[in-house]
Amino acid sequence: MINAFVALGSNIEEPARQLATACQMMAALDQTRLLAVSPVYESPPMGPADQPQFLNACAQLQTGLQPMELLDHLLGIETRMGRVRRRHWGERCIDLDLLLFGNREINQERLTLPHPGLYLRDFVLQPLQDLLGREYVMPNGEYIGTLLAVCTTGHLIKRNIQLSGGEDYGNPP
Ligand code: ADP
Ligand code: MG
Repeated sequence: MINAFVALGSNIEEPARQLATACQMMAALDQTRLLAVSPVYESPPMGPADQPQFLNACAQLQTGLQPMELLDHLLGIETRMGRVRRRHWGERCIDLDLLLFGNREINQERLTLPHPGLYLRDFVLQPLQDLLGREYVMPNGEYIGTLLAVCTTGHLIKRNIQLSGGEDYGNPP
């Protein structure tokens, strides 16, 4: 079993509900447990500015799937949740990006690991740091806290939304 981390993002159709649904669906994946979910942050859109603010969070999974299998499941969840791709970095009801899969490095057309935006985006690093701690050493050898300090925009707002992980999802007694 490998620890994998997934970034969740949503900015339309009740984003908080979208994040909660995505967590439930990840918890129900084959050979996979949802171990933890970070706090939720509000952030400005990265692409076109004429779209709503995003809600972002990070989930920790433990999985027996292969990286490409997990990616396909994540994209499948996006599709089942009704994601429509209209414009690059545009509005989306759900975005599920695979950030880390153990310390695997992959450079394929359909899958880059670690995720190419991971080291550059505070709305990804902050919730990941909440799960791993600021002294966690990333695959590039740097502390997550150091990476976050470099790219902090000051625009992240911690929201009082609880997306609990673990036993609340898909793990009946
Ligand atoms: P973005 O997340 O940049 O807004 P999309 O969600 O539309 O873009 O994803 C486009 C493609 O990115 C996916 O079809 C997937 O094959 C590819 N991709 C490459 N690496 C990753 C990764 N680590 N996590 C998620 N998708 C990835
Ligand atoms: Mg994506």
